[in-house]
Amino acid sequence: MIVYKFGGASVKDALSFQTVANIISNNYTKNETIIIIISAMGKTTNLIEKITEAYFENNQKSLYSLLSQLAEFHLLHCRKLFHNNISLIDSVSQLLSDLESRLKQKPSENYNYEYDQIVSYGELLSSNILSLFLQNSGFSNTLLDSRRLIRTDSTYRSAHVEWETTTALIQKAILTQTGNLYVTQGFIGGTAENITTTLGREGSDFSASIYAFCCNAREVTIWKDVPGVLNADPLHFPDAEKMDYLSYHDAIELSYYGAKVIHPKTVKPLQNRGIPLFVKSFLNPLQSGTKISEFSPETKTPSFIIKKDQTLLTISPRDFSFIAENHLGFIFQQLADLTLTINMMQNSALSFSLCLDTNNAINTLLNRLTDTFSVRYNENTELITIWHYDTDTIDKLTTNCRILLEERTRHTVQFLIKSEILS
Ligand code: ADP
Ligand code: ASP
Ligand code: MG
Repeated sequence: MIVYKFGGASVKDALSFQTVANIISNNYTKNETIIIIISAMGKTTNLIEKITEAYFENNQKSLYSLLSQLAEFHLLHCRKLFHNNISLIDSVSQLLSDLESRLKQKPSENYNYEYDQIVSYGELLSSNILSLFLQNSGFSNTLLDSRRLIRTDSTYRSAHVEWETTTALIQKAILTQTGNLYVTQGFIGGTAENITTTLGREGSDFSASIYAFCCNAREVTIWKDVPGVLNADPLHFPDAEKMDYLSYHDAIELSYYGAKVIHPKTVKPLQNRGIPLFVKSFLNPLQSGTKISEFSPETKTPSFIIKKDQTLLTISPRDFSFIAENHLGFIFQQLADLTLTINMMQNSALSFSLCLDTNNAINTLLNRLTDTFSVRYNENTELITIWHYDTDTIDKLTTNCRILLEERTRHTVQFLIKSEILS
């Protein structure tokens, strides 16, 4: 059994659905089952996030304009895919009208709950379209509902997977006989009460790894708009080089530091089962891509990741006492309560500095700290992480930058810099 995942960039229009069908056609044999995990089309999730905001703010004008943008976009590509044979896409039209009816009701008080109920339509729409299109192209397939198979708790927008139940549910749904084709949604799951949840933005890579783990798949391929995992984001560094191999360990480190190409939760379940992960080019499917597995030839190529929108906090006890374990314990407890993640930290006798993704919850953190601590605050900073660093790469990335914080280990160096100077 193999698992394929196609992200938003790989299903952005009618032509890309055709490319997905070509990839399936070139790889599908009756000897092996394929499970296809699909994201919402193109930038649909961003659009539905705006719909959710308009709904919550009761901004009817904006809501209906965004909703018709969503419907027109999907119907336009469906017309192209199904040669105007609209009767073939009843289920897609039905989903659009279900969403519209839902948005006519008053929202509950719980924004995150409403968000998951609405934003999940992106994946429901794309998976329906792909399943119908494959069917229409001669690839008989079964559409699976991830809301009923990926069992989660009810932490809306960032739900945690209940692995045992999920494994049992997925194994029951996937027939043991070989050569089946399944299509399902990434990003979404559901609670025991059948309430829809989502796994966090960009979570479809993780969904692919959940299905692979639960079925003990032979391999997973995530098809991307890049040739594989590169040593930097090609969007900002066009001469970035592809890495042919990466170890699970290094892939986790890269995604942890913010390399957007793989969702950080993706690798662990695959590592636990020894399932190789391939990152391949959607546009050049015959190219080898990057293979992520237990062992990889050691690479010394410097890789770098730039995380924008960082906030630096420098926290000092008001009474001029040393920063001690009880202070750190208190600070860490507040961070955990607010689900804020530290990207870099450093302490001295009188202060503790930490760098976080800029987030509204930081204001609440500041309120909780100000009784005991004075807090200096620096927004618009960027975190540069260089892995297997060398002097040339450090110079290339930091010359003329104001460095606010720096930390080196044997393999990795991190610089927190003031943003405007870099760009
Ligand atoms: P998906 O279509 O699956 O959602 P993403 O947009 O999440 O794909 O990930 C692909 C993008 O990741 C690329 O377009 C690229 O700009 C970005 N990216 C960031 N860092 C890297 C890297 N080290 N290697 C490859 N791509 C990267
Ligand atoms: N559609 C979701 C998002 O854009 C999940 C994903 O594509 O991975 O975040
Ligand atoms: Mg993505």
